[in-house]
This record gives sequence, structure tokens and C-alpha cells, in this order.
Amino acid sequence: MQNFQESGLQPEIVKAVTDMGFESPTPIQAKTIPFLLEETRDLVALAQTGTGKTAAFSLALIHQMDATDKTIQALMLCPTRELCIQVANEINSFIKYVKGMKAIAIYGGESMEKQKRALRTGGQIVVGTPGRTKDMIQRKYLKVNNIKWLVLDEADEMLTMGFKEDLDHILGNTPDEKQTLLFSA
Ligand code: AMP
Repeated sequence: MQNFQESGLQPEIVKAVTDMGFESPTPIQAKTIPFLLEETRDLVALAQTGTGKTAAFSLALIHQMDATDKTIQALMLCPTRELCIQVANEINSFIKYVKGMKAIAIYGGESMEKQKRALRTGGQIVVGTPGRTKDMIQRKYLKVNNIKWLVLDEADEMLTMGFKEDLDHILGNTPDEKQTLLFSA
């Protein structure tokens, strides 16, 4: 994949990344985007922050999502609240021209009410920290039983930070049939 124009991604997505000043894909994007557009196999990728990994795991998924369906199609887990907010904001920039698409950030240390309302309004993507995500699933505010994609961002960090139990619980609520993308430093 040489450039975003020839990537096969929807013109709305290409326009948004062009607005953001992305001229050519980073090495990780050049590898993952064609793979994710073609394959349903799981993916393990090694990428540090700053390599363009958010676009690497999200652009091809956004392209394949159904914007008319307001149920959660992708769950993306990140170790910290800051990363969650950053990833959700970046994805919302990628989808600004795709009508009806929305990414919702779910993290601890903020009122559950506001996040619950955002979930009720509907969106296709949830970007969450493991603790709050598990909590929202247990309270039945968040349904992940129909997701097509699961992304584990900074998976190594999530394990060293002690989120294994939360992750096991969350994964247990997701369908067997899904594509899992694991990103680690
Ligand atoms: P990340 O590794 O996802 O945290 O991305 C690091 C920074 O690089 C973010 O500010 C992105 O918006 C930016 N970025 C990602 N992909 C590209 C690209 N292909 N060209 C230019 N900037 C990019």
C-alpha cells in the first residue's frame, strides 16, 4: 500500500486522514491495513506509541463497519484513561465524514451516567479501560456479545498493570466468532 488514495478505504475516510495531514501510511499502517481489509484471521502486531498504531488498527475496521447499525461492532481496550480518550478522539476524527458513525470512550474516574447516556444514544465503537468496561458490561449498560472486532491496545501494559482478570471477564462476554487484533510494544 503506497498511499491512502489507493488503499481501498472509503473516500470519506481518505478525505478525513488527508485533512489530518497524513500523506503516506506509516510502515505499520502499510502492513496492517491491507491485511485487515482482506483477512479475517487474528493479528498480532508490535508497535510503539508514535508509529501510527491507532490508524493502523482502526482505519480498516471503520471501513468495514455498518454505519446504519447503532450497536457496538468493535471493542478496543486500552490501559489508561488518557490513551482511551486519545484513541476515541482520533477515531472520531477519522469518521467525521462517515454519517452515523461514532466512537465512545469509557473509562474510570468520570461519572458513569454520562458514559451510560452516550452508550444509550448508540455508536459502533467503544474504546475502554478494562475496569470500567467490565463494570459497564456487568451492569448491562454495555453489550459486547455482537462485536466483530476486539482490539487490545498496549496489551503488554494491560497485563503488567494487573488487568488480566478484567480482560478475562470482558473476553468471556464477547462472541467466539470475531477478529482479535493484539498490539503490543
Ligand atoms: P499513534 O502511534 O497512533 O499514537 O500516532 C502518533 C501520531 O502520528 C498521531 O498524532 C497521529 O495522528 C499521527 N499519524 C498517524 N499516522 C500518520 C500518517 N500516516 N502520517 C502522518 N501522521 C500520522
